[in-house]
Amino acid sequence: MNRVPLFNMNLQRQAIRLEIERAVKEVLNSGQYVLGESVRRFEKEAAHFLGSRYAVGVASGTDAILLSLTALGVSRADEVITSPHTFFGTVGPVLHLGAKPVFVDIDPQTYNIAPQEIRKKISKKTKAILPVHLYGQCADIVAIKKISSEYGIPVVEDTAQAFGALREGKRAGTWGDLGAFSFYPTKNLGAYGDGGLICTNRRSLFERIRVLRVQGARRKYFHELAGYNSRLDSIQAAVLSVKLKYIDRWNEARREKAGFYQEKLKNIQQIILPYIAPKNVPIYHLYAIRAKKRDALAKSLAKQGVETGVYYPLPQHLQKALIGWGYQKGDFPEAERAAHETLTLPMFPELTRQQQERVIQSIREFYL
Ligand SMILES: *Cc1c(COP(=O)(O)O)cnc(C)c1O
Repeated sequence: MNRVPLFNMNLQRQAIRLEIERAVKEVLNSGQYVLGESVRRFEKEAAHFLGSRYAVGVASGTDAILLSLTALGVSRADEVITSPHTFFGTVGPVLHLGAKPVFVDIDPQTYNIAPQEIRKKISKKTKAILPVHLYGQCADIVAIKKISSEYGIPVVEDTAQAFGALREGKRAGTWGDLGAFSFYPTKNLGAYGDGGLICTNRRSLFERIRVLRVQGARRKYFHELAGYNSRLDSIQAAVLSVKLKYIDRWNEARREKAGFYQEKLKNIQQIILPYIAPKNVPIYHLYAIRAKKRDALAKSLAKQGVETGVYYPLPQHLQKALIGWGYQKGDFPEAERAAHETLTLPMFPELTRQQQERVIQSIREFYL
């Protein structure tokens, strides 16, 4: 019996193998292995794709958030408003800067930050709002932007799971002051190693981030800022340039798979399928359902060779690394409920009908 995996990066690589190998070889021959021409080219192409004025390649998605917050001047005693139902990479950078992550519970339908709650959490110390476009669907960025302009607080979009997603025809990551992306291999636009990107329309932020990623030095060995070593590798940029040409097609294939799941699973009472808010075009980085008896379902699917995932089993406010900020169980009930009830099904552009049928049949049998 063939396994149905959660992701399969190998099929995609095989489909574009020659192009990838040519691009990598070119970098190897060039003798330039960090930044350089291939990074400049990818930054230009990514900015064009996203519809953003500037883009800066960095070492990871986590770094993209860290450098974005640093560029905005987030530091000790500041507060950053974000979602508790996310990966630690959203929150870690806030902690590293000595700022307090101020959580706002999620909307139980979209799993994204509930904008009407943000207002209540704004204080004099709020330095940034950091929404996450979870599972590949844009958070309610229009409402968030409105709050942002009302209070003059900048927005950094954690777009690690949503490269290419749209809201009202505009790309996720380009609504706020800064958009942070991850190219971790399993992401919908994935490199063959770590990588990240920041996009912005603000020239001053763009320039600061370019300096921050090379140890805070505009001129080598003359450091004007306490920067980081956060450069994008030339090989990863070359790989990403190849993949960028296919990303719309791959995202469309993900939507098509999601449509099939939707159609075939909609009559099962014990699960709730993804809800897509109006004017959103998601990219289904993950296909997350809410399921009765989630853990038992996952176990039963595993027995049938169907791999599933839990994103994420423990909300950020309850992480050990956040002890000391005074959060407790019960503070964000929707995030806590999502941690217990959500399950992600296999989702990647090359997923076959046959594999999807297996997933669907296995879920049906469990609830019968
Ligand atoms: C993957 C991810 C990150 C971190 O990206 P890395 O490239 O792994 O550092 C941050 N936020 C979210 C929501 C992610 O999914």
